[in-house]
Amino acid sequence: MAKKPRIVIIGAGMAGLTAANKLYTSSNDLFELFVVEGGTRIGGRINTSEFYSDRVEMGATWIHGIKGSPVHQIAQQINALQGSDKPWECMDGLLDEPKTIAEGGFELNGSMIEPISTLFKNLMDFAQGNEASKWCSMSRRLGNKSIGSFLRKGLDVFWDSCKDHEELKGYGKWSRELLEEAIFAMYENTQRTYTSAGDLFSLDYEAESEYRMFPGEEITIGNGYSSIIEYLASVLPRDVIQLDRKVAKIEWDRCDSRPVKIHFLDGSFVLADHVIVTVSLGVLKAGICNDPGLFSPPLPSFKTDAISRLGYGVVNKLFLRLNGNRKPEELPSLQMVFHRSDSELRHKKIPWWMRRTATLSPIYNNASVFLSWFAGKEALELERLSNEEIIKAVTTTVSSLLSEPHNEIMSDSNSNGFEVSFVDVLKSKWGSDPLFLGSYSYVAVGSCGADFDTMAEPLPTDVYHHHPLQILFAGEATHRTHYSTTHGAYFSGIREANRLLQHYHCVGV
Ligand SMILES: Cc1cc2nc3c(=O)[nH]c(=O)nc-3n(C[C@H](O)[C@H](O)[C@H](O)COP(=O)(O)OP(=O)(O)OC[C@H]3O[C@@H](n4cnc5c(N)ncnc54)[C@H](O)[C@@H]3O)c2cc1C
Repeated sequence: MAKKPRIVIIGAGMAGLTAANKLYTSSNDLFELFVVEGGTRIGGRINTSEFYSDRVEMGATWIHGIKGSPVHQIAQQINALQGSDKPWECMDGLLDEPKTIAEGGFELNGSMIEPISTLFKNLMDFAQGNEASKWCSMSRRLGNKSIGSFLRKGLDVFWDSCKDHEELKGYGKWSRELLEEAIFAMYENTQRTYTSAGDLFSLDYEAESEYRMFPGEEITIGNGYSSIIEYLASVLPRDVIQLDRKVAKIEWDRCDSRPVKIHFLDGSFVLADHVIVTVSLGVLKAGICNDPGLFSPPLPSFKTDAISRLGYGVVNKLFLRLNGNRKPEELPSLQMVFHRSDSELRHKKIPWWMRRTATLSPIYNNASVFLSWFAGKEALELERLSNEEIIKAVTTTVSSLLSEPHNEIMSDSNSNGFEVSFVDVLKSKWGSDPLFLGSYSYVAVGSCGADFDTMAEPLPTDVYHHHPLQILFAGEATHRTHYSTTHGAYFSGIREANRLLQHYHCVGV
C-alpha cells in the first residue's frame, strides 16, 4: 500500500490547529497528520487563565468586529459567548464614562478632552482609509512615512487652527498646550497597544489603510478564548497533537522520498512530505539570525528580507487585585494623563514604565481585578519587575492621580487624600517567552503589506520541483489584511490547508 503523505504542522496555536482541523475534516483520512507544539499547552497566543476566580485572557482578548468573523461564528456555534460558570473579563465597565485624570490630581472634563479625542479619532480614521477632515488632509499634504509623524503633524495643524484659545485656568501648572499634548499622547499610547508598535514613528503610514476590521461590535468570549482552540482541537484523534516537542531545525530540500526532516530539541527527528510552519514572526526573526538557524539550508533571501523588514512588537497585560478594604466601585475606570518624561513637574515616584500606559479599568463592572495594557519598552520592563515593585508603582500612581489637585512635585510623604492599594498581580510575559518573543506583527517603516504575501509563499518556489510544497507558512504574520489577529491566524491556517488539499485534488473550501 502506498504510504500516506505526512504533514507536520509546527505550532498548536490558532493557525496550526485551524490547518489541522481543516486537513483532517476535509481529506477523508488521506494524510498522516501531526501537530508538534514546543510548549506544554495548546493555544499559543490564546491563553485563558484565572485570577481570583475571574476568567482572564493573557493574550487574545477581543473578537474585533463580529460580522464576518470566523472566530465569532465558532463562538456562537459552541455557545461560548455568554459564559455561565464564573465572571469573566467582559470589560462592560468600559461602557461607563472613565475618569480622565491628569498628573497632579486634575480631573479633566469633557470640554477639555473632547476636541483632542475627536482630532485623534479623525486622524486615525483618515490614516485607515476612512473619512477625511480638514486637519487630516492638511497634515497628509505634509507627507508622511509613519503614523507617528502623521499624528504629530495633525496635532500641529490643529494648534495652528486654534491659536487664539484662551489660557487654561484651574489645572495648576498645566498649560493648555502641555495638557492637550499629554491627552493626545494618552491616545497614542492606546494606539501603541493596538498595533504593538512600541514607537508609532516606526509604524508605516501607507500600510495602515490596507488593514481590515470586521464591522459590528467588539466583544470578548465568556467561556474564554481558549474554548475556540479546544473546539478546533476536539475533532483530531488523540495522537495528532504532540506537546513539549520544540523544533530545533527544519532540514528541507533533501534527496529523500520525504524531503523534510524536522529535528527536535531532545535530539529526535521526524520525516515529512510537507511542514506547515506557524511559529510567530518573533521566532522566525530569531530563527534566521541565530547560528545554527532554524532552517537548513537557510531560507532564500526574499523570505529573510520580508521577515527582517516586518515589525513585531511586545504588548503585555497586567491584572491587579484591589485590596479588600477598598470597595471596587470606589476606584473608577481611569484614563491617565502624564507629564512628558522630561518635565520638571513629574511625580518622582511614578516610574517611566507607568507613564506610557493609558488606562486602568475593572475587568467587569465593580470587579476587584483591574487591567492595564503595556507596549514596547514598558511592556518588556514589566516582565522584568517583581510583583512587589509593580504593586508599589501602580499604587503610587493611582493614589497620586486620585488625590486632591496639587501643584507641588509630590513625594511619598505628601500624597494627600485617596489611598488605594493592590495586593496581587498577574502579568503576561510574551516578550521573553522563547516560544513567542513578542506579541503581534505590524507594518514597520521600510516594509509594506506585500511583505505579508511574501511571508505566505511556500518553498521551494520552483513549481516544477519534484517535491513541491515542502515548507508552507501560516500564522497571523502571513495575512496581508488581517495580520495581528486571531482571525488572521485562522484564515492563514485555512489557506495553507487548502493549498495542500488542492495539491492532492481534495476540494478545499
Ligand atoms: C497580549 C495579546 C493580546 C492580543 N489581543 C488580541 C485580541 O484582542 N484579538 C485578536 O484577534 N488577537 C489578539 N492578539 C493576537 C492573537 O493572539 C494572535 O494573532 C494569534 O493568536 C496568533 O496565532 P498563531 O497561530 O499565528 O501564532 P501562535 O499563537 O504564536 O502559535 C504558534 C505556536 O508555535 C509554537 N512554537 C513556537 N516555536 C516553536 C518551536 N520551535 N517548536 C514547536 N512549536 C513552537 C508556540 O508555542 C505557539 O503555540 C493578542 C496577542 C497578545 C500577545
